Order: sequence, then C-alpha cells, then structure tokens
Amino acid sequence: MELKYVPTVCPFCGTGCSFSLVVKDGKVVGSAPFHRSPVCDGKTCQKGHYAYELVNSEARITTPMIKKGDELVEASWDEALAAVADGLKGVSGADIAVFASANATNEDIYALKKLASDVFKTGNFTSCAALGIDASAGTIRGIAKADCIVAVGNIFESHPLIARRIVNAKDKGAKVIAVDSFNSSMAKLADQFVKAVPGGEIEAIKEAAAFVEGSAALVLYAVGATKSEAAVAAAAKALADEKKAAFCALPAQANGRGALDIGVAPFDDVFGKEYKACYVMGEDLGPVEGGFIVVQDSFLSGTAKSANVVLPAAVYAEVDGTMTNAERRIQLVRKAQEPAEGVKANWQIVSEVAGKLGGSIAYESAEAIFNEMYGDLSYEALQKDGFVKEATAAVVAEGVAPAAVSAGGDYPFALVTGPSIWHGYGAAGTLSENCHSLVKEVPSMFVKINPVDAKALDVKKGETVTVSSEKGSIKATVRISKDLDEGVIFVPTMSMGEECICKIAGGEKAVAAKIEKEA
Ligand code: SF4
Repeated sequence: MELKYVPTVCPFCGTGCSFSLVVKDGKVVGSAPFHRSPVCDGKTCQKGHYAYELVNSEARITTPMIKKGDELVEASWDEALAAVADGLKGVSGADIAVFASANATNEDIYALKKLASDVFKTGNFTSCAALGIDASAGTIRGIAKADCIVAVGNIFESHPLIARRIVNAKDKGAKVIAVDSFNSSMAKLADQFVKAVPGGEIEAIKEAAAFVEGSAALVLYAVGATKSEAAVAAAAKALADEKKAAFCALPAQANGRGALDIGVAPFDDVFGKEYKACYVMGEDLGPVEGGFIVVQDSFLSGTAKSANVVLPAAVYAEVDGTMTNAERRIQLVRKAQEPAEGVKANWQIVSEVAGKLGGSIAYESAEAIFNEMYGDLSYEALQKDGFVKEATAAVVAEGVAPAAVSAGGDYPFALVTGPSIWHGYGAAGTLSENCHSLVKEVPSMFVKINPVDAKALDVKKGETVTVSSEKGSIKATVRISKDLDEGVIFVPTMSMGEECICKIAGGEKAVAAKIEKEA
C-alpha cells in the first residue's frame, strides 16, 4: 500500500485554506490538516474538511454528452468536439458569451479568456465574481492587528476561517461590530450588533459608524451573490474611508480574486442577455435557455443539464494549478490523483476546442500557462507559502441599492438571505452537493422562522413547506429559531437538487414571501 499526503487549496471560498489530500494507492481517500498553511494554520471548516469526498463521487461525469432531442446522450470526445465545432462555427463577437467559474484555477480561467478573445473574438467573458468590487487590502494574519473590526455579512458562515481570525482578535481585545439582517452567528459573537431591516443594509452600515473606535480599525465585507453587492460594499468602503480604517472585500469563490486579476467583464453586463451561443466552464448559472450551450464541468450541474454539449472536466484534486485568495496570495493547487478516466483538465479542453475551431491555445502544462501569466514568478517560488501580490487601491462600483421589502398581503414575511456554512452557491454549490457528509448534515433547502410565526402557521421543525415570493417557489424544511424577528424568515444562499435560492430571491438580498404548509 502506498500512502501519501498532497497539500492543496480548498476549492470552496475565497479564504484559501490549505489541507492535505490523503492519497492511498493513487486514489484520494481523505484529508488531513496542513499545519504549515499561512492562511489557516492547519484548520478548515466543514466544507474544507469534506472537500475530498467530491473527488471520487459517483456523480462525477466522465463521458462527453451531446443533446439528442431532450436527452443528453453519451458520446466520444471526437464526436463531442465535432459537435462543439459544428454548433459554434461562425459564432463570434456579440453573439456569444463565455462564463468562467471562479472556483477554477487561474490557469483554466486564463486559457478560457484566450478562447473568448482569440477564437470567439468576444469581450463577453465574465464570472460570478465580477460584481464590481475590487478591494483586498492587508493579509488574513493582519486581522490580528486590528483593534476594531466591522464585519458586514455573516462572515462566520461565508468565510469561517476568517471569522476564526476575528474571534482570535476579539480574544486579544479587539472590538467586533457585526452588521447583518438577523441574529446570525457573526452577530452573536460581536460586541456590538447593528441589525439591518430587510433590504436596509446600507443604512445599518451608516449606523455602525457610531460604534467604530480605535486607531487600527478594519472593515470586512463578505461578498454574496446578489444584485446589490457593489452598493453595500460601497457603503462599507465609505465607512472605512470615514474612519480611516482598512477595507477588504472577501470574494465568495475560492478563486474569485484570481478571476478579477485575470480580467473579467462585469457579470451583469453579460449574464441574462440573448446570445446565439454560451460557453460555460464549471459554473452553475441554472438552466441556460436559447442558443447553443457548451458546458465543461465535473458534475451534471443545472447549467450542464441544459447544454447541447457537455465536456467532462477534472476536479481540483486531479490538476496542477494556482488559485488566488482574498489577500491576493497565489497558492499551488496540486495534483493528488490522476484524472478519472475520460476527463481532462479544463485548460486542456479549452485547448482542444480552440484547435477544432481553427485557433491555437496550445500549452504543455498548467505550469506553462502560469509562466505566461506571471513571467516573474514560478511554481517553484510558490512551493512554500505561495506569493502575496501587492494590493491595489480598492475600487467599488456604485451598484444598485438593495430593494426595500414591503411585506404584507399575500406575502406577509420579509425573507432575508445569507451564506450557509455547509453549502456553497453556483459552482461551489455543485461541489458541496457532491460531498455526502455535507449533504447528510444539510440535505435540503431550509427556512428559519421565529417560534411565534411557526405557531401561527402551525408548522413544526423538520416539516416541509413551500416558500414563495412573487418570483417563484421552493420546497424547504422548517427550522425554528429565535434568531429571526417575528415577520422575518431566512433562507440560505444555496442550492440543493432542483431547489435554489435564486428561484425565490431572484438576486435580491431580501424579498417579501409567504410560507404554505404541504397539502
Ligand atoms: S473557510 Fe473557506 S477556504 Fe477555508 S476550509 Fe472553509 S470553505 Fe475552505
């Protein structure tokens, strides 16, 4: 028996924790702490701990698929690449959009950008990380030096190992101020909690100014997945500027920072428009309708199910590459096992597609791509602690302020959203849904409701209900919690199977909603 430990980077959130993959006879079978990590000191949250489970999940797709009628039918690589070439022939410029997962490596995203610019001749190249927020100052270890920390959003669940640094700073005397829309885990550990009324995050951030003190304050904003991220981040940055505090926005995705550094167009400028074709690498945008859809992914995501051609891609544990975390630390993702039979690294797929379309994006390895990206750096130089790129001045777009929620009538509740420590969203949602321990812990969407409201509705813990807004409905399991005010309910920003927060929140931070018992 051969046993080895391969250090790598967590594929979930922008904290960029490391752990070692335990590899037995060439196959990933577990994970172990990587104590030398400069980011997490060998700790991980639940997602990081169980991230090894997705590597050899039975749900992996290992054969290309082509849509025939309404069905995706297995095909050979030659057939699938020919179908891609056929479907995309002559489609370029404004007629095509290209989406990169920000949970993919820098090398994959860079190669895909070249496919967009050199082969498709389009600037419609984006990622869910491109929400108009470019602000990463200071290091994660530097949180210890802050004497006052303003945490906007439930960092405890979105970036748990950054929350751990906040807890450590608090233990050493730092004042912690939390701004959130309910009594979240972050709010509970704060010295001062400023509660935002649903949709009132900007006003709450302004209120928080009264509590900021000290000479080394820090404002942290956990970037979510709504239309209002930039507007709320701008308010957080304005607070930091007013108080002469440092400001850092924490990307939701493992390589959100890397995607921004490579250069992606604003997501809202590209997503949701009509195209003749869409090319999606590893992102779950939900079903994409209209046009010819090509998806590279490791799992049959919601987007992959709607594709004309699906090309099976390797997962993080099967490739070499790099990811850049919230503090701009470029770290090595290391191959722990050979790719499953039939799958290829994302950059290799991009290269083959380019070749079929008459382009040339040819590299010998991920390292060769990295060398082209960062001529002054090398994988060798990243071996120990990675490399922290110099921070640039924070830039936050004006954005669209969160909509005020007017609950009443048919929709008597204000539904607020926020991260879940157990599951991700978009590409990270696809990953967490394929870690069986995470699914065992939280197997369905859930709705948290105040006990008084639960009694009035006659719903009990564990019961399945329908949660609806004017945008749509989902099934969710009831959790009863005094963390929510009467009249306010919480549904996490996650997806599970066919259910997704996007169906009811539609990209808003909060909406009016109702709860109905099962008939
Ligand atoms: S905090 Fe983020 S990067 Fe760290 S283990 Fe958890 S999900 Fe992974």
